[in-house]
Amino acid sequence: MRVGVPVRETCHFKGRQMKMNFRTSCIGLVAVSVALAGCAQEEEPEAPVEVAESVPAEQMLTGDHIMTDAGDLVIQPIAHATFAMGWNGNTILVDPVGGADAFQELPTPDLILITDVHGDHLDAATLEAVAGGDTVIVAPQAVVDQLPEALVPQARRLDNGSDVSLLGLTVEAIPMYNLTEDRLQFHDKGRGNGYVVTIGGKRIYISGDTEDIPEMRALENIDIAFVCFNLPYTMTEDQAASAVREFAPGIVYPYHYMGSDSEAFASLVAESDGIEVRQRAWY
Ligand code: ZN
Repeated sequence: MRVGVPVRETCHFKGRQMKMNFRTSCIGLVAVSVALAGCAQEEEPEAPVEVAESVPAEQMLTGDHIMTDAGDLVIQPIAHATFAMGWNGNTILVDPVGGADAFQELPTPDLILITDVHGDHLDAATLEAVAGGDTVIVAPQAVVDQLPEALVPQARRLDNGSDVSLLGLTVEAIPMYNLTEDRLQFHDKGRGNGYVVTIGGKRIYISGDTEDIPEMRALENIDIAFVCFNLPYTMTEDQAASAVREFAPGIVYPYHYMGSDSEAFASLVAESDGIEVRQRAWY
C-alpha cells in the first residue's frame, strides 16, 4: 500500500483545539473513527470527515511541476524563505515559519530542512505545530540547539560539507555566510546551512542566507536553485545574479529578497543564456 497522506482534523477538547495528524492508511481510518468517537460530546458537531483516497503529496501541493527520474517534483512557494516540495509521496518543508496557518492544507512533512537560527528561518512555535511524530528535521548544530526539546530526538544534525540520505533523496549541507565586512555580523561561516537536495536525479540548491561565496559559484550540475538577496543581511541583486550566471542552474527561483528588486535580478540573469528565472509570489 502506498504510504498515505496525512489528513488533518481538528478535535475540540476541553475548550482547546488539538490538531491530530493521521495517515489515510487502514490504521489511519481506524484512528479517525476513534478520534471522532472522542469528539462525540461536542456541542457543535464537526462536519463529516472526508477521508480521501490516498493522495500523493505532490498532488496536494500547488505550484510548479518539474519532472524527475521518479515522478513530478512540485514546488510550492509559501513566503520569503519558506517553501514546500512534494515528491514521491513525501512532503519537504524548507524553513517553515510564520505560524501554522500557511501549512494547514499541506500534508504533515516527512522532512523539514532548516538553514539558520534567525526568525525568518527558525520558529519553534511553527515547528511544534507542523512537525509530526515521524518528521525528520535536518539542521545545523546551532539550529538543533534551539529546537523545542520535544523535537530534538527527530533532528538530524548536518554540518557544512556533510550529507545524509533519507526518504530516497540526499541532502548535502553547503556553507552560507557573509563576505562583506559590514555584513559579517549576520552570518558566520559554519553556523548555517545552504543545501543541495538530490531528488529523482534533480539537484536542487537552496542558498540560505549568504553572499556570493566561492562554494556557491563552484556548484555544478544544479537543475533548480533558490537564491537569496537582500541588504544588509545577504547580498545585492548584482552579486546574486553574478553568482547564478557562474554556476548556471537550469532554473533559478529568486527568494528571500524582501526589499530588493527581483526584476533587476531577473534581467541581469536573463542576459545569460540557458538559465530560466522563475519569479513567484513570495510576498
Ligand atoms: Zn534570512
